[in-house]
Amino acid sequence: MITILTTLDSLKNHRHAQQGTIGFVPTMGALHAGHARLMHQAKHDCDHVIASIFVNPKQFGANEDLEKYPRTFEEDCALLDECRVDAVFAPTIEAFYPEGFATEVRTLGLDHVLCGAHRAGHFTGVTTVVARLFAYVRPDRAYFGEKDFQQLSIIRRMNEDFPLAGAIIGVPTMREADGLAMSSRNRYLSEAQRATAAIIPRILRTITQTATPSTLDAMLAQARITLEEAGFVLDYLEVRDADTLSMSTDVSHARIFIAARLGTTRLIDNMPFVQ
Ligand code: AMP
Repeated sequence: MITILTTLDSLKNHRHAQQGTIGFVPTMGALHAGHARLMHQAKHDCDHVIASIFVNPKQFGANEDLEKYPRTFEEDCALLDECRVDAVFAPTIEAFYPEGFATEVRTLGLDHVLCGAHRAGHFTGVTTVVARLFAYVRPDRAYFGEKDFQQLSIIRRMNEDFPLAGAIIGVPTMREADGLAMSSRNRYLSEAQRATAAIIPRILRTITQTATPSTLDAMLAQARITLEEAGFVLDYLEVRDADTLSMSTDVSHARIFIAARLGTTRLIDNMPFVQ
């Protein structure tokens, strides 16, 4: 049975009682097969795996879905058990950010584009929570999904600058049969919206498989029209360098990134270009 830890002291004690390598997988819960892929990878690579489930208020904006973010703790523990995760850290907000907590961790440069431009303060919330988790867990390897590619890039940078984890491991995106990237937020979609959502991976696939530097702009313009006609409100559809996240048309080293809203649900996805 998985060990459930709810205080920072119990997390620290648990971590120090372990021998061998520690894998760490931070999450916000409402776990699905995408999260399970991270757990399996961690279990494969490491002697002992710790996951965390914490809906971090610091990474939600004032008008975002913090209150209604899905919370499915019992099912999450069952999935973690199936993945043979050894322990889960699931604190309350008060236990994680005690009174007087006053520090922010911010990684400059990568955080002002893409989602950073549309969700003020979001990535500072992410780096603050991850740095604090890393400080207690001190993992040998920490696992993050390419689904949140900008987040992965920022965490890599943060860990270069403050190496609290031994290594940051990126894990490819798990998708539904129709290509939609698995996400805890997909459960907000109505049946009709869920069918529409599959347009996102179809468009990303077409562009990454067929665009050339000379056709890319026209394909992006057409894709924006197609998405808007299907009912999406686009935050961005952009091609950026896979390392620097700066705008790029060099498809040999770029990824396509999208954030689009269907009703009140915000979906993100990204893909590398096929060489
Ligand atoms: P979240 O619970 O949404 O904060 O996600 C926790 C971790 O799981 C993050 O590193 C995500 O990038 C990763 N993740 C979420 N969805 C997927 C997916 N479909 N495939 C792979 N990793 C994912």
